[in-house]
Amino acid sequence: MSSTPIASKIIPKASRVKIDPAQIEYTSDKQKNAVQALIDEFTISPELLKDIKNNFMEGMQKGLKKDGETLAMITSYVMGRLDGSEVGSYLALDVGGTNLRVVSVHLTGGGEISTRQTKYRIDEKLKVGDAKALFDFMAVCVDNFLDEHQIVVRGDTQIELGFTFSFPVLQTSINRGTLISWTKGFNAAGMVGKDPVAYLQDAFNRRHIPVRVAALVNDTVGTLLAHAYHHPDTVMGVILGTGCNGAYIEQISNIEKWKGDAAAKEMVINMEFGAFDKERAILPLTMFDNKMDRKSVNPNKQILEKMIAGMYLGEITRNVLLNLIDRRLLFEGHISPDLNQMWTFETAYMSTIEADASPTLHATRKILESTLSFPATSLNDRQIVKLVVELVGKRAARLSAAAVAGILEHTGAWKQKSAIGIDGSLFEYYPSFDTDIMDGLEEVFGAAVRKNISIGLAQDGSGVGAALCALLAAKHSNGVV
Ligand code: ADP
Ligand code: MG
Repeated sequence: MSSTPIASKIIPKASRVKIDPAQIEYTSDKQKNAVQALIDEFTISPELLKDIKNNFMEGMQKGLKKDGETLAMITSYVMGRLDGSEVGSYLALDVGGTNLRVVSVHLTGGGEISTRQTKYRIDEKLKVGDAKALFDFMAVCVDNFLDEHQIVVRGDTQIELGFTFSFPVLQTSINRGTLISWTKGFNAAGMVGKDPVAYLQDAFNRRHIPVRVAALVNDTVGTLLAHAYHHPDTVMGVILGTGCNGAYIEQISNIEKWKGDAAAKEMVINMEFGAFDKERAILPLTMFDNKMDRKSVNPNKQILEKMIAGMYLGEITRNVLLNLIDRRLLFEGHISPDLNQMWTFETAYMSTIEADASPTLHATRKILESTLSFPATSLNDRQIVKLVVELVGKRAARLSAAAVAGILEHTGAWKQKSAIGIDGSLFEYYPSFDTDIMDGLEEVFGAAVRKNISIGLAQDGSGVGAALCALLAAKHSNGVV
């Protein structure tokens, strides 16, 4: 079995360069009306944002009462807070997105951390194949990583590993749980209802790899912990990457469904908020969302995630563009074979198009003509593409704001100084995602919220956070602080 490391690339963060729909020289009234209809459909008004936030808070309450609700509100078994003084060396394995990562984390106290990591691409066939093969692949990646970084394990000792497995898992202890469902394009056979830790530990044992899975971590929980190591006032971790989700610190007395030890006061809740509005009661889904949902590997599931997350935004945009093309309102009705294929319009292109500041929209032209092989495009074409991208991207950021506002209002954290750690390439690279979220929070709570709430990039929540979780687990072997 081969596991090939891939290099990570760094893209500088840019701001959105807005396109004014009134400045577009439309080719016809029909085109102008079609664009206006899209603006109406994709714009989340301040009123709708608040309605969504309220509905989201009701969902949180339901999920805290009992299992099986739309917002799963999973008890993470992570209790107690970090203060940055923690020390030790741990491994983290991050699975659940575009890449698999192995990270070695060395905590030196005083909020200091050093890490080494290698990323591996997971073959699409492995994602939807045999579960045992998928977990064997994970073990091989860890084994290769130990070789590559010359990490030697002496005698009978084992390295403690935090396993970031970013799928909905019903946790039964700090390192036990059962998979509720696959998401984000994974669908390995026979895993639902099984314990991913047992599968991983078996794969290590079969190969005599001296690693013990000490903690099962959701990336949102890891993100919260990683941010808290640097910012002890962190109340929430959010993922805006391939998928979207959030975790926050809840009072145990508010978790009605909790049957465990109530000695601790607080526990981190993994919300699985990407599943919000399965009922389709409040989110303003368009035909373009529905078309994408129907073709996804998990139709009718993860409805909010599909309007927010990096895996889906490009595909929604593609659907809008195809519709305009089919009505001969874009590219004079010409299509490119590339754009005809599903998932070819990458969300990363949207970042480039949003940041395109040139009067001729040069970067947008390059994507359309060089990357997607369209014949010569007009400025009008490129302006409309840019506007569509902005509509889809801004809607995603405003829906993220509704969710974050719901958590801040539920916990009351907006009233005091609180930090939010966000991890994921969408948040990191998409122009103005952070300012759009803050603007949404201001609509809900007023301008003063800017003084209390800080939103920061929680770099490497799923690596460092998982290590911190393994540390907490080792400290409190029964998971209770
Ligand atoms: P994961 O969620 O797998 O941990 P990431 O946080 O890197 O991984 O998120 C990957 C997602 O981010 C992909 O769906 C991809 O479309 C999106 N993405 C990658 N680069 C960019 C970018 N420059 N701008 C916007 N989205 C991006
Ligand atoms: Mg990630």
